Amino acid sequence: MNGEPIGLITSAASDQLVAGRAMTKVDTPFGSADIVTGRIAGRAVAIVLRYGADMTLPSHKINFRANIWALKSLGVTRVISQNAIGSVNPVIRPGDIVISDDFLDRTKTRPLSLFDDEACWVRVDMTEPFCPQMRPVLATAAAKHSPRVIDRGVFACTEGPRFETPAEIRALQRDGGDIVGTPLVPEVVLAREAELCFASIAPVINFGAGMAPAVTHFGAGSMAEFYYTGGLHDRVEKAIADAVAAMPAERTCKCGQALSGGFHGKRPAWLTACSLDRKPGGGA
Ligand SMILES: [Zn+2]
Repeated sequence: MNGEPIGLITSAASDQLVAGRAMTKVDTPFGSADIVTGRIAGRAVAIVLRYGADMTLPSHKINFRANIWALKSLGVTRVISQNAIGSVNPVIRPGDIVISDDFLDRTKTRPLSLFDDEACWVRVDMTEPFCPQMRPVLATAAAKHSPRVIDRGVFACTEGPRFETPAEIRALQRDGGDIVGTPLVPEVVLAREAELCFASIAPVINFGAGMAPAVTHFGAGSMAEFYYTGGLHDRVEKAIADAVAAMPAERTCKCGQALSGGFHGKRPAWLTACSLDRKPGGGA
């Protein structure tokens, strides 16, 4: 178990974070995925740069299924997701780091399942959407590098690529959302279907619309400038490195049995043939 790579899905991974960086293309039933391999804190990692190497791929155009499949096929069992996000909760401020424990899906057009085209019904449990074993590891690592870490919170995932309106932010507040971002769903859902552990480390880089004079992604005074030149990205990478180093060898959670009790029908040929079926879930 010690040799399996830890997965990381992120917007950018610096050379300070990743040693021995190499690119590999993984063919999947959903198309190919570009994966960066290397080592973080001495451990093997497989990294998805979700917006592409040049950060030009918006959230709604990401090939989520290929990315998750590729990580699984490389032997990944745990995925750390880095999500630079906005706050919709006034007590959560830019500069904070949130380790979410729940999410709201406000996406509209994205693939919902790895099993969409198959004669089966997969209905995984989402009582604990984020891995309960990974979350405290991430929170402890983040606390070493950040003055304010919020170790729970509801991540509202919106479709994008535009930002939310003030009315939408108010609606998310009423619905219990704490932070808002665009790529979490369906990554977290597909990871559960693939029986992967998945947890998010979310640096806050702005307030939502209506909570600040404007929301600007690129350029002077933008959230990207705040994140990448203000030191927050460096602190998040250090937290990720510490979390990778501290990740226990054995999984004590239920993420690896997510299909047990959640699968009904004919097992797809690809599920039987590929590494996704190394630990079959319960049958019909
Ligand atoms: Zn888990």
